Amino acid sequence: MEDCIFCKIVRRELPADVVFENEEIIAFKDINPMAPTHVLVVPKKHLASLDDLTGDDVGLAGNLLLAVKEVAALSGVAGGYKMLSNCGEAAGQVVPHLHFHILAGKKFVP
Ligand code: AMP
Ligand code: ZN
Repeated sequence: MEDCIFCKIVRRELPADVVFENEEIIAFKDINPMAPTHVLVVPKKHLASLDDLTGDDVGLAGNLLLAVKEVAALSGVAGGYKMLSNCGEAAGQVVPHLHFHILAGKKFVP
């Protein structure tokens, strides 16, 4: 995806504070943190949102969850964080590339 902000981060065309990366996933600090710890876990493959996941992505979906757990631990918040994914504009999604927010250090009401 040519103009997608997160695809540009994956291609290193935009800077980001990367905290984790493997073959299919990258995680970086949110540029506008809503909590003391606010990290985004992002598949390198462009999928607009959870609604775009198919059966072909079952391995990726599992690995994303495991990456959330790993990134939380790397960020020092294992056992005390919230994971959130906004799906669609109506839910507040601004960047149309699937991502999971890890938020910690502050109490949030779901
Ligand atoms: P969402 O509303 O779920 O689409 O969240 C998008 C998130 O991406 C917001 O929390 C933004 O602060 C964050 N964001 C946007 N651009 C960047 C960027 N270049 N680097 C890091 N985070 C970003
Ligand atoms: Zn993208």
